[in-house]
Amino acid sequence: MNGIAIGVDVGATKIASAAVTPQGKVVAARQTRTDAGQGPDAVIARMVTEIEALASARNETVIGVGIGVPGLVNPGEGLVIRAVNMGWQEVPLRSQVQERLGMRVPVYVENDLRTAARGEAMFGAGRGVKDFVLMTLGSGLGSAAMVDGRVVHGARFFASEAGHLALDVNGRRCKCGLKGCAETVLSGPGLIAETREILRAGIASTLQDRDTLTPQDILYAARQEDAAALAAMDKLGEWLGIVMATASAWLNPARFIIGGGLGLAAFDLIARRALAEYGVRALAASEDGAELVRSQVESSAVGAAALVLAG
Ligand SMILES: [Zn+2]
Repeated sequence: MNGIAIGVDVGATKIASAAVTPQGKVVAARQTRTDAGQGPDAVIARMVTEIEALASARNETVIGVGIGVPGLVNPGEGLVIRAVNMGWQEVPLRSQVQERLGMRVPVYVENDLRTAARGEAMFGAGRGVKDFVLMTLGSGLGSAAMVDGRVVHGARFFASEAGHLALDVNGRRCKCGLKGCAETVLSGPGLIAETREILRAGIASTLQDRDTLTPQDILYAARQEDAAALAAMDKLGEWLGIVMATASAWLNPARFIIGGGLGLAAFDLIARRALAEYGVRALAASEDGAELVRSQVESSAVGAAALVLAG
């Protein structure tokens, strides 16, 4: 296959886009503000501007455009059902982009975690297996699952949403309103809350008496062997292993891919604990062990381009 695919990752704050070769190589990239407060029309107009700028910068045929959106997406209809962070509801994104684009090319729309999973499958840490689960730890917990070589959507496009998996019915309040969702522990805010609880028990720590605490502070302290920070990382690893075992009970993936800012930064501190917990809980699935690896596709736009390249 020749030509380039254009991938667009639209987030609540920025629109990242790239021209990507069929081999997954980024040959041009752009970034602009989303300004979601201006409404879908303005955001779509900006996306089209970015796509056309990438297309005209390269003297190559554009094979298609893939767009990743943070929300509930019906990819068959190219419809964004809901994207809470952008305030979108029932936006027919594919047809609106197609209408405004000067060129006639196929346009694909998908949930951003599912585009990331496709990116990992084609060009990253998902190569070589047909069954894997991707989890991204950052400000929240994002996830997507590949089963038998296909990204899982479910009846209402809500499958493999590990962020709101109930881990502890008496746990911390989640921003969704319920208690004890996985996101309340497997995220930056979750790590901070966990550390504060450990500190409140009076443990000696360089993090005591801090007014503000960031995940970076905690990771730094853990690398200095700070007892409270290490206890918080241990808890993070334990929770990750529990979610992995839960995922295994439903999907039995061969590999778990961890991404996101916190997931990548904390990987070496939590991986061993996570695998140990998984080994205890995943029963038969753990006999062959599970692979726990870092995500490899750095650009979210590459995942979006993979929508085109995977056809
Ligand atoms: Zn929740």
